[in-house]
Amino acid sequence: MKTKGLWAALCVMFITGAVQAEEAGPNQTPYVVMISLDGFRHDYVEKHQAKRIGEIAKSGVRAEKMIPAYPSNTFPNHISLITGLLPVNHGIVNNAFYDKSRPAGDSYARYSMGKGYGDSTWLSGMPFWNLVEFNGIKAATYFWPESDARINGNLPSYHFHYSKYADYQNRVNQIVEWLSLPEVSRPHFIAGYFSLTDTIGHKYGPNARETYEAVQRMDGLIGQLYDRLQKLSVPVNLVIVSDHGMAEINDDAKIDVTKLGIPDDFVVEIRGAQTLIYGKPDTTKKQIDALKSQLANKADGRYTVMSDSRRDEVSMPVTSRTGDIMLELLPPAYFVGAKAHDGHGAHGFDNTLDDMGATFIAAGPAFKKGMTLPPMKNLEVFPGLAKVMKLEYVPQTDSGSKTFEQGLIK
Ligand SMILES: [Zn+2]
Repeated sequence: MKTKGLWAALCVMFITGAVQAEEAGPNQTPYVVMISLDGFRHDYVEKHQAKRIGEIAKSGVRAEKMIPAYPSNTFPNHISLITGLLPVNHGIVNNAFYDKSRPAGDSYARYSMGKGYGDSTWLSGMPFWNLVEFNGIKAATYFWPESDARINGNLPSYHFHYSKYADYQNRVNQIVEWLSLPEVSRPHFIAGYFSLTDTIGHKYGPNARETYEAVQRMDGLIGQLYDRLQKLSVPVNLVIVSDHGMAEINDDAKIDVTKLGIPDDFVVEIRGAQTLIYGKPDTTKKQIDALKSQLANKADGRYTVMSDSRRDEVSMPVTSRTGDIMLELLPPAYFVGAKAHDGHGAHGFDNTLDDMGATFIAAGPAFKKGMTLPPMKNLEVFPGLAKVMKLEYVPQTDSGSKTFEQGLIK
């Protein structure tokens, strides 16, 4: 009798312990699917009648616009979105750049989009998928710039090496499939990426019929994903973001950088909205200053040589990667090299321009319904998602504001 009683008590203790473990365990971690639609302007929902995405916004929260980091380009901003750090701090200061601390002949090693796959030391900071994994939860990515780079020596549990040819429908199917896995292998954070609206926006411009069609296609796909997420056995928060907007550019306002008389003592990276100019290993400060005045004299109002205060304002101080001299301009102008850019749309410009405004929409159990947030920096996405997922360990970010939190159900 005595033994039986003890046995029963032990059983009760065991069951209670198991229940408590489950409550505190990974089962209670919320789910987030974050999709990036490259180059999806903050106003495309209205401009190109994205009805389904508009409905999702109405059932959740939407920022008037999301402000990208400077420069408003794809790689710096996808890495800012996923680390909460400014480009100068996560290291990807443009879609391509040189690094004076990495000598290569009489020039320097050059980063270009996707180079993190072969050498993850180009990147600093902790991407959100690693933060999730380090909190003991599985993460998955179906493309996101640099999501196949071994940052912090780690990768998401599930990921793909980037291929622009990967079928769009398969990406959606895979996301739904991941969320249908048994709990032990199911990711709680999934990132996805679609480039279509950027590709078409570059080619035809933000106001073109073709761009309307690209928006319609993405609207259908996101609507389908949303519907399929509602049918799953687990509640999922869907977050739709973009990296930047898109502006019309004009052939007549293009500036051929090869005609600005930059001498051979310099390495030049032409980036459309900026030109980054680096002194070679033997180039003196005097030569750099001389080139600055030469370029300022030739500008004639078409572009500006960025001053130190302007560079501080956009968090692009002189580092080994940002260039000893940086030129910038405003749309519809555009820097080109010998191989001219032949599109009608571009981005990369001043991040506070309305044309550069990006999209932020989120719906699901964590978010309030039918709420509009004021313009929000994309640096807020990382700490915001950490709140949504109730993560214990969260590193410091450059965010500094709390707009995202206004959209959360407490
Ligand atoms: Zn682009």
